[in-house]
Amino acid sequence: MSDVTHPLPSSILREVDAFVATVHTNRPRRLDPVGLARTLAIEMSRRDLGETLLGLTLDENRMLLHRKLRGARLAFVFAHELAHIQCRRGAFRGLARSDEEWFADWFARELLLPRRWLLDRDRWPRTQLGSLCVDGETAALQLAALGSGPALMRNGSRVLCRRCGTRTYDWHCHCRAWRTRTDIRELPDLRQLELLYTPPRWRSAWLRFPQWETDMPAVARRPIARAGASPPALA
Ligand SMILES: [Zn+2]
Ligand SMILES: [Zn+2]
Repeated sequence: MSDVTHPLPSSILREVDAFVATVHTNRPRRLDPVGLARTLAIEMSRRDLGETLLGLTLDENRMLLHRKLRGARLAFVFAHELAHIQCRRGAFRGLARSDEEWFADWFARELLLPRRWLLDRDRWPRTQLGSLCVDGETAALQLAALGSGPALMRNGSRVLCRRCGTRTYDWHCHCRAWRTRTDIRELPDLRQLELLYTPPRWRSAWLRFPQWETDMPAVARRPIARAGASPPALA
């Protein structure tokens, strides 16, 4: 799909793509957690999981989702827990157990916004992200996975890494140092990404980004002091 290597190992990615193809047709469509849970014989219950936990996989057939979740966040947490359930059902065998949390986030992003939707430049669903229940963070990381967005950026005070995602994964990755810094305004905020928020510039921006590397220059033109949301807790 792209010259840039996806953060997931190719064998795992092929399996993810095959699963996503069973869920979505080519036309961008909102993920239906309730319908998909029913199709896959998953018992999905809503509970008050407290202040820090958003979702939990109990076994290969049951997941809990926090009662407070709505919209894009609900869809993401559902998709993340679905990755755990699929692992427990024997899928993605090439994945190390210690990588499962990291993988579950990538699986969720692929399920919510498959890369092939982004590659269709004429019908890129940027303007539909809200109705598709896809947040800017998911879109930005999917673009980064394709080499079409910055490899390192931020969502407010949250560091987003092309390889690690929203949390530290690779101990040696450059993003680790950024995650401990209090001032990360040198990183581009996803709200400043023209390819996400300025439709007329989308096509030219697309062509410009593939050369970006993790050691990117400071490109923040207009520092945004706004604090981002706390990192989500998923199990
Ligand atoms: Zn990283
Ligand atoms: Zn998890």
